[in-house]
Amino acid sequence: MVDLKGQYAGIKDVVNPSIQEVIENTAFINGPKVHDFQKNLETYLGVKHVIPCANGTDALQIAMMGLGLEPGDEVITADFTFAATVEVIALLKLTPVLVDVNEDDFNINIEAIKRAITPKTKAIVPVHLFGQCANMEAIMEIAKAHNLFVIEDNAQAIGANYTYSNGAKVKAGTIGHVGATSFFPSKNLGCYGDGGAIFTNDDDLAHTIRGIVNHGMYERYHHDVVGVNSRLDSIQAAVLDAKLPHLDNYNKARRNAARKYNAAFKNIESITTPKTVNGCEGICDTCDCHVFHQYTLKIKGIDRDALAKHLNDQGIPCGVYYPIPLHRQKAYLDERYNEADFEVTNQLVKDVISLPMHTELDDEQIEYITSTTIKFING
Ligand SMILES: *Cc1c(COP(=O)(O)O)cnc(C)c1O
Repeated sequence: MVDLKGQYAGIKDVVNPSIQEVIENTAFINGPKVHDFQKNLETYLGVKHVIPCANGTDALQIAMMGLGLEPGDEVITADFTFAATVEVIALLKLTPVLVDVNEDDFNINIEAIKRAITPKTKAIVPVHLFGQCANMEAIMEIAKAHNLFVIEDNAQAIGANYTYSNGAKVKAGTIGHVGATSFFPSKNLGCYGDGGAIFTNDDDLAHTIRGIVNHGMYERYHHDVVGVNSRLDSIQAAVLDAKLPHLDNYNKARRNAARKYNAAFKNIESITTPKTVNGCEGICDTCDCHVFHQYTLKIKGIDRDALAKHLNDQGIPCGVYYPIPLHRQKAYLDERYNEADFEVTNQLVKDVISLPMHTELDDEQIEYITSTTIKFING
């Protein structure tokens, strides 16, 4: 699914000395590399504050703690996403309210958000799934009308742009009150272990969060709030700082691969290729609208699981993200949920399949993957 070795080979000459520097100066925690990376990421994203932390799940949790959400507050998020999003909501004793997604872009459905709002609703967590932004303009409007916080789960879309209807472009994760991302190795900007970050343009919230990540300390040994210990270590920051200048090219390589996949599958009736939205028809490099964390097809009329097995048998890794809707996961069952409200997610879990997607895919590999897929479909 990913080729981290191939990617490393291309940047070894910058990554190795960057790591070596940390080892030599032994500033393993909160060293200068962490600060450098933070500043460089702030510039790249065009956001006032980046607060690095230990992983993407922590980033989401800390964002919610920073906003002062309290037990019983309802937080609306997508039914079709990785469990981390709903997990932290539940951990903080907030009430997750899962809603359905769109059939075309897999992102949280605006009408479903509106239907789910109650007097207890305090926040919306859109997940920019597979590398493309949710409809942030509509989400921010709803949030404003109902006085809700918006926390963007940007774990899969770092570097993507969101295009407003007036043409203005903003980096994913910097639109809501706060954004959270992950630097897990397979993400679009991945380190060599765990890592994450929180983004915000709000000075007060940034200050609050900087204390929370460090045991609730704003002054050494003065614990003003209950915090956590969540740090990006210096070695990971060294890797990320060396990779950040390559991010746009990495995302471009992913789009190139997606274009080739799309072209190969164009006339295959049982395959629906991923749809780009937010004002972008097709896949272009001018607006960075989609960064293809995953390349996800919908398969109709043939057995998706048999296709997945066949691809695996032919040496092609593939994945089903996600095979079970969150509202049907044991940990998140809620008697308020009604199956009829999850029509799209319930269908997507049966239809989706993600093909290998990374920065090192070459034409020969794409040819093999697409021809093997098509041959199976054509029987
Ligand atoms: C990866 C991911 C996370 C969690 O990130 P970790 O760094 O693994 O904790 C959260 N949300 C989504 C949508 C993700 O894909």
